[in-house]
Order: sequence, then C-alpha cells, then structure tokens
Amino acid sequence: MPSTLLTDASRRLEKAAQYAPISEDATERLKFPKASLKVAIPVRMDNGSLRVFEGYRVRYDDTRGPTKGGIRFHPNVSLDEVQSLAFWMTFKCAAVNLPFGGAKGGITLNPKTLSKFELERLSRGYIDAIASFIGPDLDIPAPDVYTNAMIMGWMMDQYSIIKGKRSPAVITGKPVSMGGSLGRDTATGKGAFFVVQAMMQKLDKSPEQMSVAVQGFGNAGSAIARQLFAAGYKVVAVSDSQGGIYNRNGLHIPDIQQFKQTYHKMQAVYCRDSVCSIVDHDNVTNEELLALDVDILIPAALENQITAENAHSIQAKYIFEVANGPVSADADAILEAKGISLFPDILVNAGGVMVSHFEWVQNRSGLYWQLEQVEKELLERITKESVTIWKIAHQHEVSFRTAAYIHALSRLGEALNDRGTRDYYNS
Ligand code: GLU
Repeated sequence: MPSTLLTDASRRLEKAAQYAPISEDATERLKFPKASLKVAIPVRMDNGSLRVFEGYRVRYDDTRGPTKGGIRFHPNVSLDEVQSLAFWMTFKCAAVNLPFGGAKGGITLNPKTLSKFELERLSRGYIDAIASFIGPDLDIPAPDVYTNAMIMGWMMDQYSIIKGKRSPAVITGKPVSMGGSLGRDTATGKGAFFVVQAMMQKLDKSPEQMSVAVQGFGNAGSAIARQLFAAGYKVVAVSDSQGGIYNRNGLHIPDIQQFKQTYHKMQAVYCRDSVCSIVDHDNVTNEELLALDVDILIPAALENQITAENAHSIQAKYIFEVANGPVSADADAILEAKGISLFPDILVNAGGVMVSHFEWVQNRSGLYWQLEQVEKELLERITKESVTIWKIAHQHEVSFRTAAYIHALSRLGEALNDRGTRDYYNS
C-alpha cells in the first residue's frame, strides 16, 4: 500500500481481523477499493474565463449494499484521501448496521474562493462527470467537509435532468423542500452526543463533572458543542480553522454560535436581547486546544490532527472522534499507552450517515417522517451499537477502535463469505 492514510486504515483492519471471524480472502478483498474515478470538471467562471477542477469518486466496497459516502470540497482532496475516507465509510456503515457499502468523493479546491454561481456550475459539472458512477441502487453521495444541503440539492437536480426523471434517492442531505430528511443537518452532532451519553453512562460519569474541548466549529462540531452545553457539560474551549477560544469556567455555546454566524469570527460572548458583550477568554491555537487539560476532547475538524508528534501532549481522559480520521494509527498506540480512552469516528460520527439512510428510505417509500421519529430511531440504533462495541472492547480487552472494527468486520466478513470465499466452499 503506497499511501500513509490508506496504510493506517489497513493497519487497523489487520489488527481487528485477529479477533473477528473473517476469512483471509475477505481481509484481502477489503484492502482494495472496488472502483476509483478521477474526473476533470471544466467550469465557466463569472469573469468569462474557464477553469478546470479535479474531482474524484471512489466506491470502496458494496458487499452489504449500494455504496454510500459524502463529497468534500477542500484544497487537500486527493485520490489517497478519498480512498481512505471511502474505506472508513465501508466500516462505518457496517459498524452501525446500515445496508450500505462505503464510498467517498471530492473536488480539490478552496470553495470559499468561488461565487455561488460558480459553485453551482461546479457542483452540476461534477455530477455530469460522475452520473454513470452513482445512482439510488449503486452509490449515494451526501454532504461532507465544506459541502451542504444547497449543494446536494443542485446535484440531485442535475442527476434528475440527466436521467430524465426525478431521482431524490440518489443523494442524501438535500434541502427538506427537495426531499431531504428532517434532522439530517444536525444528525452527525446529535448522533455523536448520543454516543457520548451512552459511554458516560457506562463510565458512571455525570455531565456536570465533565469539561470538554471541541476542535472544529463546522456543522458537526457546532452541533455537538450545543448538545453538550444544553445537557450540562462544561464546554471550555471551541475553535475554527482560524483559531480557538478558551474559558476555564465554561463558554455559552448558543451565543458563540450566534456571534460567529453574524460576524464570521469567534469570540466568547454573552448575548442578552440584541446586545452582545465579549467575555473574558483566552485565545488558543488549534494545537493548544488539543493539549488542554480537559476530561473530554472532541476533534471535529479534519483528519490527522493528533499524530505521533503531538499525541504525547494530550491530557484529556476521553477522546470522541467526530471528524473522520483525526487520530493517526501511530498516535493510537501512544494514547492507549497513556491510558486515554478513544471512541472512534466510525461509531461517533455515524449519526450523519444513519439519518442519510432514513432519508433514502423516505425518498424510496414516499412517506416522510416527523423529526421525533428520526431522532428516536437514531437514538435507539446508535445507542445499541455503542453498547455492543463497549462489550466487545471489554470481552477482548482491546481499544474501542479495535472493538468497532471487529464489530464491523464481523458483519462484512459474513456478507463476503456468503458471496463465496474459500472458507465458505470448504464448510
Ligand atoms: N460525510 C458524512 C460521513 O462522513 C456523511 C455521509 C453520508 O451521509 O452518506 O459520514
């Protein structure tokens, strides 16, 4: 395996394979993405010039169902990154028992440099380029880093134009007016909150005892910070890509969110009526935030934030990975040796794809759910999988990450075996 991200992914696979009832054939199959597509997307810019962007879509494994995974717009998007993220989606969908395989897509760019019109032409151009690679029974994209419901709406519309029929089930995370599910926008944060609650209950900890730092204040990070704040956790630090704020007595998350939406920057604020005042706080860098002396650390930004270089400085007792892949495989070992419990991305951030599944079901049945139903199903399902992963970790005396992989691998292995492997034919 040439790349570091995918090598990390495969190291975790091999570790879990020691404990899961999975044949060698199946492990071998899972080391390689099923299909990878690289496309060029020509876009007419507002000033009349033509710019060509590079995009990808990777379908990693479809043994358990059509492939599923988001599309990110980010300058770091590369084939290696998209393949690794597609690998994670395969395990995430299996870990929480969705009838999906794993996929991912992306375009290499900084979307903040494009106008809304350019962004729409780019989004539609991407679908023109990958239309035959996706479909409601084949591969179903969704939002990821720097993409949102508006972009998913354009993409679904473009796919429907190409196919000559309305096809809402091809993409999830759409605006509610275009067949999106209620509760999808906050699903990743909500799901992560349910996992934190399930684990704190197992650990016999109450919210008031726990201080929290959240790295990343995007869709998932801000949603979980808000949930934790509302439940009584003391959220002492939050950050965005520009940097973070820290107040040891706790921050008022709804006010910070309101301030950030209005001024596009981060300050510790208290807003009363229409007046906001800036509260005493320290500015921290993202690096400093990770090293704060808190109970719970939540990396909710990008991958590879905690690596062998800075893992030694982590003081938190528990890490909940809301981002995909924020901790490298080398860092895993260091954190484990320090006695830090890490709850992995493929469980913690699975709420997003779980509600994406509900959206796909609603699109196909034509019957739309109330928000209460969405949240009830999400709570029940993610709590059940969290408890099972907790049990596997204790049964095999392994980390929660390895336990989650064992859990996913058992389901994947069974499906791969039933399709026909050497073990299957020998039995
Ligand atoms: N991008 C999200 C993830 O990484 C959601 C994927 C989806 O809903 O398909 O899990």
